[in-house]
Amino acid sequence: MDNNFETNFSLFENFGHSLNSTAYRLQLISNQDIKDAYKLARQAGLTMTARGAGRSYNDASLNGGGIVMDFSAMNRILSWNKDTGRAICEPGVTLEQLWQCTLLDGWWPPVVSGTMKTTLGGCLAANIHGKNNYRLGPIGEHVLEFNALLPSGVALTCSPKRNSDLFYGMISGLGMLGIFTSMTLQMKRIYSGRLEVKAWPTPNLQNHLDSLLENAPEYDYIVGWMDTTVRGRNLGRGQIHAARYLASGEDPDSARFLQLKNQTLPARVFGIIPKSILHYFMRPFVNNLGWSLINSMKYFTSLQRHTFLQSHASFHFLLDYIPDWERSYGPDGLIQYQSFLPSENAESAWREMLQLSHRSGVPAFLGVTKRHRPDKFLLTHAVDGFSLALDFKVTRGNRAKLARLLETFDRIVLQAGGRFYFAKNSETTRASTRQFLGTQTLSKYQRLKKRCDPEQLLESDLYRRVFK
Ligand SMILES: Cc1cc2nc3c(=O)[nH]c(=O)nc-3n(C[C@H](O)[C@H](O)[C@H](O)COP(=O)(O)OP(=O)(O)OC[C@H]3O[C@@H](n4cnc5c(N)ncnc54)[C@H](O)[C@@H]3O)c2cc1C
Repeated sequence: MDNNFETNFSLFENFGHSLNSTAYRLQLISNQDIKDAYKLARQAGLTMTARGAGRSYNDASLNGGGIVMDFSAMNRILSWNKDTGRAICEPGVTLEQLWQCTLLDGWWPPVVSGTMKTTLGGCLAANIHGKNNYRLGPIGEHVLEFNALLPSGVALTCSPKRNSDLFYGMISGLGMLGIFTSMTLQMKRIYSGRLEVKAWPTPNLQNHLDSLLENAPEYDYIVGWMDTTVRGRNLGRGQIHAARYLASGEDPDSARFLQLKNQTLPARVFGIIPKSILHYFMRPFVNNLGWSLINSMKYFTSLQRHTFLQSHASFHFLLDYIPDWERSYGPDGLIQYQSFLPSENAESAWREMLQLSHRSGVPAFLGVTKRHRPDKFLLTHAVDGFSLALDFKVTRGNRAKLARLLETFDRIVLQAGGRFYFAKNSETTRASTRQFLGTQTLSKYQRLKKRCDPEQLLESDLYRRVFK
């Protein structure tokens, strides 16, 4: 391509290394760069997709044969006000940068993903949820306003009151309406760097879901781990972790734990093995038998009900504890299937799905449950109920079988009135999307798309899969 950018044709992957496509990479760091990139795409007749940290489990930030705009270096925190808890950030700022800037002043991001490596641009485009979704909603509910540059050439500011259709459309809109150039977030006041966490076992699926439902109102966060490999009457057994903030004066060590050095995850396991190479040791266990053993061991060591204090970083970002853990799934990687179901239908639908996965010989290795409530963003994935995220190993041998299994899962979820999340699932079809979003929502999204991006410059592999 003939232009002022340094471009190279690169191979991009999803987080789980199970999908990839090649595209021109443009590293953008300013609004002018974005304008130039739009111009370049128009001249070259190419489509373009934004990419933050590339932490989506699916094809949301892939754009085979087109341009990928890399925002990871447009990452300045433009302003931080420790009195109001308001932060103005560029889109490439990661959750890690954000909490590390605000913690010492006693503020924490109100909504975080299970990894701190995600960027705010990516978090808004997917409208991420945390372990407190049932209380505080998705991240979009804590965005006071954002600035965006549309492919139509328009620069605008959106808030719940100003350009509100675009506020609710672009947040959750998967980067297909325009590009976030900065955002103002309201952080959450905290009085300690630690949370009080309670953990208890749940002997089966029904008990697990009842436990989430009944206990959620008493805590600020709740999350479940599910043994997805066990069968029979213990199907869906697991463990719940529920946490609450400590009030002012409650933690005698509060100042110490607001310091970054007391939040950092340790670099070595048992003080010896560098965490960066741990995924190589994990690889031999990442198979049906290995995970069945790991899950059983985890369940039997979690039988004791207990309460402990844990740093915010350790509670929220457990998955960052082992860097590159997804590599342990081997050369064909992993995919995650997350379904959101109304409380009343969740047990029967997930029972059927877990049993089907066992019968077909493709069990999920890991299951994580959360409690949710609906929100008013356009492409919302939340329901009044629960979500279950299932991690599947992909191999050359099981890929087709896995795809058929997930197709059946989609049917079960749709019949039960459920929804899907566009940052996770890689199998959702156009027909499933139409069914769970409804034609009214889809038409509204397409009308916004026509208005903001009349030449259809913004397209991703995901967009072509589910919307085109
Ligand atoms: C280990 C792990 C745990 C996770 N836990 C959770 C969780 O608890 N809850 C949850 O909700 N999600 C979770 N996720 C998913 C993750 O939060 C989302 O996929 C998020 O979008 C990734 O952010 P990113 O910066 O990597 O974005 P990318 O994956 O790079 O992009 C995601 C989307 O954002 C768009 N985008 C990026 N930058 C911009 C911009 N400047 N303007 C407009 N659009 C843009 C892209 O085009 C794409 O559509 C998890 C992912 C991982 C790997």
